[in-house]
Amino acid sequence: MEQNKKIELYVHIPFCVKKCDYCDFLSAPAGRDTQEQYVQALLHEIQTEGGRRKEPVASVFIGGGTPSILEADLLEKILKALYRCFYIEKEAEVTMEANPGTLTLEKLRICRENGVNRLSLGLQSPDDTELASLGRIHDYQQFLESYQMAREAGFHNVNVDLMFGIPGQTRDGWEKSLRTVAALNPEHISAYSLIIEEGTPFAARNLKLPDEDTEYQMYEDTARILGEYGFEQYEISNYAKVGKACIHNIGYWTGVSYLGLGLGAASLMDGCRFTNTTSLERYTTASRKPDFPDNIRKDLIKLTRQEQMEEFMFLGLRLRSGISKAEFAQRFGIPIEEIYGDVIRRYKELALLQEENGRIFLSRHGIHVSNTVMADFLL
Ligand code: SF4
Repeated sequence: MEQNKKIELYVHIPFCVKKCDYCDFLSAPAGRDTQEQYVQALLHEIQTEGGRRKEPVASVFIGGGTPSILEADLLEKILKALYRCFYIEKEAEVTMEANPGTLTLEKLRICRENGVNRLSLGLQSPDDTELASLGRIHDYQQFLESYQMAREAGFHNVNVDLMFGIPGQTRDGWEKSLRTVAALNPEHISAYSLIIEEGTPFAARNLKLPDEDTEYQMYEDTARILGEYGFEQYEISNYAKVGKACIHNIGYWTGVSYLGLGLGAASLMDGCRFTNTTSLERYTTASRKPDFPDNIRKDLIKLTRQEQMEEFMFLGLRLRSGISKAEFAQRFGIPIEEIYGDVIRRYKELALLQEENGRIFLSRHGIHVSNTVMADFLL
């Protein structure tokens, strides 16, 4: 993939109060001592990598887990180190994920004062019964308090995560959830369908999930209802007010290089993909060795030109604006038709892909079978 001059940073905080019943993310509960040791190792990684990297940083995303579980002093150390060690641009988007039940006004103020300018709140549902069924630690009232505190602390760019396809959820229930949250007027809403992941408590249960047809309708309802409140769908699962699309995620989908810091964090730098260890013990122990963080990196793979083309297609097609034919030609020195002519023609005939003004994108129906369509772009 073309090397952009700017890079993005992802910082992983692998701690949560407790595991939600559907979650297979790299996160677990941990006490203050473990958190401190982790932050110490993370600071070391930030410092070492910051010394190596001279590129301007266009966006930072602190995700998890639950970054907001950390006490204010630890959050402050991480943010100060990021700004001290990397060249984070003045206008950079700096997002932190936070969950209701872990936020205080003090934490929010410290984050805001230390450069966080976008907050992503994990609500999932404004319905307390649904929240309990997902195994979330908070209720809707706690979310509202967090949301109001975020505004009070000066956050003018707030995302709210929602989930549909929850056990027992109806179309009417989902519409009510969407309207309740949209009426709060956040700048951004992410709406994902629940995926039952292997090894989670949900996978072992006999859940009463909405059927496929209902889920299809729920997805269509999402764009229509959020559209009424001024949200534009810019990606398969993401909706934003004008000018508030997530810069970090758009960078990821359009091939901007990213450096992942922390446990299990993935990177794509200088055309190479690599991942940090997922073992917390290894990460903290290795941080005391001189070859840290190189000693915790695995799967160092240089992407071939073919893999770069595949990535360009299947990441770009996630965006409603799709991919630019001219950009493909510029990046790879060959017209897109010569590589993907057949597959594009076939899916256009099936009305799953559309083409307008030199851009190719999924049709509304195409979004529903996006996995199948994208798989056909693997060469
Ligand atoms: S808060 Fe998020 S990361 Fe933590 S357990 Fe729940 S879903 Fe997983």
